[in-house]
Amino acid sequence: MERLVKAHLDHRRIWQGFDYCYPVISRRSRGLSLGVNLNPDKICNFDCVYCEVDRINPARRRDVDLDQMEREMEVLLELSVSGALFDVSPFHTARPEQRRLNDIAFSGDGEPTTAREFPEAVAKLARLKASHNLDDVKLVLITDSTRLQAPEVVQALETLMLHNGEIWAKLDAGTEAYYREINRTRVPFARILENLIRTGQRWPITIQTMFLEWDGQGPPKAEIQAYTASLLSILKDGAIIQGLQLYTVARPTPEAAARPLKAEALDALAADISGAIPNIPVQIFYGPDGGAHA
Ligand code: SF4
Repeated sequence: MERLVKAHLDHRRIWQGFDYCYPVISRRSRGLSLGVNLNPDKICNFDCVYCEVDRINPARRRDVDLDQMEREMEVLLELSVSGALFDVSPFHTARPEQRRLNDIAFSGDGEPTTAREFPEAVAKLARLKASHNLDDVKLVLITDSTRLQAPEVVQALETLMLHNGEIWAKLDAGTEAYYREINRTRVPFARILENLIRTGQRWPITIQTMFLEWDGQGPPKAEIQAYTASLLSILKDGAIIQGLQLYTVARPTPEAAARPLKAEALDALAADISGAIPNIPVQIFYGPDGGAHA
């Protein structure tokens, strides 16, 4: 509690000492996003070649204390709504249009839906947001799409979507082979596609895709064709994709062979995909962006 009282004296020191919640100016959010990390142990069911999570330094803690998470978020909400956050570095440099609380986002150092506390965390943050009359603030799940159909996750998503929720779901490949190469997971690719279809049939989803240079090459042409075909098949099955977020490497990666795609290459891929699927808005992110869960 003492730490929270001191928040009014030294905001930056306080949130830097938080274990679960953090503020970030995010280009994807076009404003301020308050992140929630339910994976302080830094364990993920993917091992993406481009992951920016620091897994060299040991985790500060491994448990999820939801009461502490809620207290941390309450402090950040107060600092955000009062504007006091923007008196403190680095937020004092935020442009006027960025000084807007856009969302609370489940992101962080692993896959949020693998945390058994995820459903309760959603419920707590939905209540907290409502108690501050922040109906316009979104509640975003940034996910690797592996557990979207787990019953407890579906139940949590019902709560999330009732509170101005958005689901930003990862799809980095069009083929099983490339998916395994980039995301390095044992979860079958078919399950990702199935999860996107079932979830998108129920609620609109945003697809997030990382395109990178891997081992000196951008995604092969056949891979992009398979990726586009996957999107078309998801749509054909009645899922609603409300947007595509295409981005590339922006920070140091664990694998030296994972490099950013050049802006022109990303533009060209986006043009190809938009040409094949003209009705979905595509956003492109070339450079550094907030949020650890890429
Ligand atoms: S980028 Fe996200 S999904 Fe991939 S390993 Fe890192 S935390 Fe997990």
